[in-house]
Amino acid sequence: MPDTCTSTNRTDVFWDASVETLPRAELEALQLRLLKDHLDFAFRNSGYYRQSFADNGVSPRDLDSLHDLDKFPFINKQTLRERQTAHPLLGDITAVAEREVVYVSASSGSTGVPTLSPFTGKDFDDWQDLQARLFYQAGMRDHDRYLHALNFSLFVGGPDVIGAQRLGALCIWAGTVPAERLLFFAKELQPTVTWTTPSYAWYLGETALTEGMDPARDLAIRRIIVAGEPGGSIPETRRAIENLWNAELYDFYGISDIFGACAGMCSEREGLHIAEDHMLVEVLDPVSGKPCAHGEKGELVLTTLQKRARPMIRFRTGDIVTRDAAPCFCGRTHARIWIHGRTDDMFIINGVNLFPSDVEVAVRSIPEATGEYRIILTREQHLTRFHLEIEQRKGTATSNQALAEQVRLLLRNRHGIAPHTVKVLDDGALPRAVHKAKRVLDNR
Ligand SMILES: [Zn+2]
Repeated sequence: MPDTCTSTNRTDVFWDASVETLPRAELEALQLRLLKDHLDFAFRNSGYYRQSFADNGVSPRDLDSLHDLDKFPFINKQTLRERQTAHPLLGDITAVAEREVVYVSASSGSTGVPTLSPFTGKDFDDWQDLQARLFYQAGMRDHDRYLHALNFSLFVGGPDVIGAQRLGALCIWAGTVPAERLLFFAKELQPTVTWTTPSYAWYLGETALTEGMDPARDLAIRRIIVAGEPGGSIPETRRAIENLWNAELYDFYGISDIFGACAGMCSEREGLHIAEDHMLVEVLDPVSGKPCAHGEKGELVLTTLQKRARPMIRFRTGDIVTRDAAPCFCGRTHARIWIHGRTDDMFIINGVNLFPSDVEVAVRSIPEATGEYRIILTREQHLTRFHLEIEQRKGTATSNQALAEQVRLLLRNRHGIAPHTVKVLDDGALPRAVHKAKRVLDNR
């Protein structure tokens, strides 16, 4: 096991140089050691894994290399929900006694029953060490003032503020307060870093402007961390938010069932480094389950390596990513991922897979459009039809028809598919997201 982060490993660039720059071969050797131990721990302590490994004819002894992980069965969100319902409170995937659990986050499911994600005291500490590392990697330092604007109510992003405190930043535990209140904090306390969703960063900036405040001039926020939507990795969206705020955007990736953030951008801002000492990454074809080649889009499947309360072995996240394990210019050796969307949000038009993020790239690259959009899917004669609504920016002179043609052309050139109809609305006509934007209206 690597040492936990100590000040001796800290440099100007790295929170923990010994872990972050571990040569690839050594990193993989560490992963193999941790994985063997983790599978063995899960097998011995989790009723669910013991049964599931037996049902699939595998045991922890069958793992000699990282590739052998593909012998082991997947789990997904539904597995977590079912096992929790069958074995309240925490489900039998959990591998420790409840008295060892000190924290639970929860994600709400369609059934309304929240799925709990348990942490032991050590899991929680490891998590916050990792958050500190990711914040440091994104340029946060102890002289920063950090405005934490994520939900504290059972949401896994809430406690991430402790990671920023561990780093030494002055932390403002704002939570999810109305935009006017958050802007009041931003103006009065002059924080330098904040974390929110991309849609909300945009909404907040626009709200500031309508209140006569210019975020680029009147506020001190120069780093915005975003997560929860693909926007932070879409260059057009990133640029639009950065210009609005005169700030740099850093995309983070978190998952309620593992950590508030599992991956984050470095100063290069080319992909998100995923913490490979805490999790093993597989990128698989969502249909066949076969591994994707590097650079190919596939479903992110994560295996925890150190988390004790509830080991996650081959968890299908439903997120579509590409991965690159090539060294980054920043000097970190941990692989980078690019997030493209969720398998649930993907839609297929004439055999072409499209994500809302593909549409967002096109819409955001047109200066006369506001960047807001809505995708409406209908079914006509057994075919999925894709309709698009966009907004024309106030004060621009293009005709609706020219604007519609522009977005149609961009999508056709990039994806070979154009929307069946494009409706151009007035600036402000589409609903603004307060947390995660609802971009797809599925009327099929
Ligand atoms: Zn890097």
